[in-house]
Amino acid sequence: MALKILDSCINCDMCDPECPNEAISMGQKIYEIEPDKCTECVGHYDNPTCVSVCPINCIIVDPDNIETVDQLAEKFVKLHG
Ligand code: SF4
Ligand code: SF4
Repeated sequence: MALKILDSCINCDMCDPECPNEAISMGQKIYEIEPDKCTECVGHYDNPTCVSVCPINCIIVDPDNIETVDQLAEKFVKLHG
């Protein structure tokens, strides 16, 4: 799965520097996650670190981007060799 940031994001910038894949950046209105770069932290951490630091719990699993752990691990290898 890739994760997704909801419209309720308050642009606090807590998540962006924590992402090990540099998948998070400021979008037009709120922070956004680039699905091709989000491994749900597979390869780095046991749990999605952006979710851990978000003070208002506005980061969710994107229902349009469901992936298996194997797919996420493959993405990790592609990103980091
Ligand atoms: S789950 Fe991990 S890889 Fe995905 S956006 Fe959050 S911090 Fe980055
Ligand atoms: S931590 Fe949560 S509220 Fe803050 S910028 Fe990231 S998604 Fe938005």
